[in-house]
Amino acid sequence: MNTTGLKIAALAGDGIGPEIMREAIKVLRAIERKQKLSLEITEAPVGWAAIDQEGKALPENTLALCKKSEAILFGAVGLHYRDAEIPKEKRPERAALLQLRKQFGLFANLRPIKLLPALAAACPLHPERQEKGIDLLFVRESTGGVYYAYPRKTEEVLEVKDDGTTTQRIRRAVDTMALTTTEIERIAHVGFRAAWLRRKRLTSVDKANVLETGILWRDVVTEVSTQYPDVVLEHVLIDTAAMQLILRPSQFDVILCGNMFGDILSDVAAALVGSVGMLPSASLSTRRHGRTFGLYQPAGGTAPDIAGKNVANPIAQILAAALMLRHSFGLDPAAKAVENAVDRVISEGYRTRDISSQRDSKTHLVSTSQMGDAIAAAIV
Ligand code: NAD
Repeated sequence: MNTTGLKIAALAGDGIGPEIMREAIKVLRAIERKQKLSLEITEAPVGWAAIDQEGKALPENTLALCKKSEAILFGAVGLHYRDAEIPKEKRPERAALLQLRKQFGLFANLRPIKLLPALAAACPLHPERQEKGIDLLFVRESTGGVYYAYPRKTEEVLEVKDDGTTTQRIRRAVDTMALTTTEIERIAHVGFRAAWLRRKRLTSVDKANVLETGILWRDVVTEVSTQYPDVVLEHVLIDTAAMQLILRPSQFDVILCGNMFGDILSDVAAALVGSVGMLPSASLSTRRHGRTFGLYQPAGGTAPDIAGKNVANPIAQILAAALMLRHSFGLDPAAKAVENAVDRVISEGYRTRDISSQRDSKTHLVSTSQMGDAIAAAIV
């Protein structure tokens, strides 16, 4: 692949977004120097930052930049304390992030969950439940299901009592859970390919005992599995999966889920590695002309409680940049170099507040920018 002038749109967003994005760009510049790449990183506003500057969460100029770019490095958007200022469809979570997912067909969300040995103490599970360590990959369908399907509305209706009489007017909210075979097939292929490259085990999560969408999901995933005879497939109900993730996380490798189940389950898994500040995610579209367009971001949100204090953990954003190097630019050695640099500073004891433990005297507490400096310096 031509590695000159790789075009990246950097959208930092709100809350801790700008602080952690600064560190990710610092690390990208370090890898650019070391591996003689040429990265064209252009920053643009999104979220409340964009509403304040340009009146909308995803301004035309920002969208145009994304269209010209080969990948989007995204921070986080949304500040719940400002929600009342605008109607819900104009809020950043819907008007920017969901919009970008739709616009670029980012149907596959990949979220690696890895507990680094040096952070074992940050895992809330007893050491014997950690077994040989935690190393999972969530593959989540992210443009379908209940977050997108219609009708979705809140309406006023007459309350119907058990005896059939109606009394007062009440509000009733409706969301729709809908999935097509096409949506399930394409995410299943992403899951099986990922499993094939890892330990060749895929756990597909659904609610086939209750939901129509669950039955279809299970049928289609089973059909797709015939194309991947080397991969062992198991079907697990969402409630069992949630329980087993806490009891024996090491039994899983690649976990394939629909949108809402993946959203919730991957956050449960995030808690196992101590902090959401350690976890990156990638949202990918279909491969075209040998390239995968993607949006890469931390798994967490804008963390308004710690924003502006230089204490946020920038590692999720930095590892998101590593996923971008790997999946959009095919630069696996560069991605590995970033991941190794993170492992190294963690094993040397550098800790932001979210992953520090008073029990571990060999660690040193660092700020967001000091963590970024250390990781950039550890790139070899
Ligand atoms: P959050 O992830 O922002 O915060 C949850 C907790 O995790 C907080 O205690 C926070 O301090 C901590 N945390 C998150 N990232 C961290 C980091 N890098 N370093 C250290 N600690 C970190 O979730 P929330 O509080 O539920 O949501 C806050 C806002 O973010 C909401 O408006 C929500 O809609 C939005 N949000 C945006 C995205 C996104 O843009 N992708 C994702 C989730 C939430």
